[in-house]
Amino acid sequence: MSIYIYTKDQLKKIENAALITANILDELESKIVEGISTFEIDQHARKFIKAHKVKSAFLNYGGFPATVCTSVNDEVIHGIPRKDCILKAGDIVGMDFGVIVDGFFGDSARTVSVGLIDASVQKLLDVTKESLYKAIASVTIDNRVSDISHAVESYVTKFGFKPVREFSGHGIGLNLHEEPSIPNYGKAGRGPRISEGMVFAIEPMINAGTSDIDVLDDNWTVVTADSRYSAHFEHTVAVIDGKAKILTRGINFN
Ligand code: MG
Ligand code: MG
Repeated sequence: MSIYIYTKDQLKKIENAALITANILDELESKIVEGISTFEIDQHARKFIKAHKVKSAFLNYGGFPATVCTSVNDEVIHGIPRKDCILKAGDIVGMDFGVIVDGFFGDSARTVSVGLIDASVQKLLDVTKESLYKAIASVTIDNRVSDISHAVESYVTKFGFKPVREFSGHGIGLNLHEEPSIPNYGKAGRGPRISEGMVFAIEPMINAGTSDIDVLDDNWTVVTADSRYSAHFEHTVAVIDGKAKILTRGINFN
């Protein structure tokens, strides 16, 4: 399998899907308050999907039972919304969401705080988010895919945080997950050359403690092996005019 190169017209369609994905995430973020359950977050997401007249990229994907992954505290990714998972002050919740519009996919994630959180947890969120922007800054046609990976790892390790190694970012467009795989760690200057028209979902998953993870008995929820917190941020990014455009924000970046 090779990496898709999208035409200007296709890139417009991916951007449209990415913008709607981000708009719905904005709407979901505004609903996060103490006392809401992750089940209710999914209910809101279903309502917004309907209102925007789009389709969920996640519902039934590999059997996933919801439209949004909700991963709380030590949950890294792929948390399943539950009625008995009620957010309280001091929690963090990662929301990973995507839609299909006109045959094209958008994918984005962010980790948000509930009420007041510990300063050390805020640091984890800030560093993980910044590592995503460091990664996006490395998306130019002068670079290779592993430069993206290296940008994430070299930044977060300065703060004592660790990238998860078992899950990666990915190409996206006509499919939710395409080539190339974009790990959040690795040496610079390896892998495929970044080229005009490629589209990447870049998604650092960063742990406060060990990089090791476990998967819960539901066969979805990924948790940190040491129960320390984990953060996740993701944008859909295209290579346009040799540089990165954050499709989930509609802005040229570097
Ligand atoms: Mg995602
Ligand atoms: Mg993704």
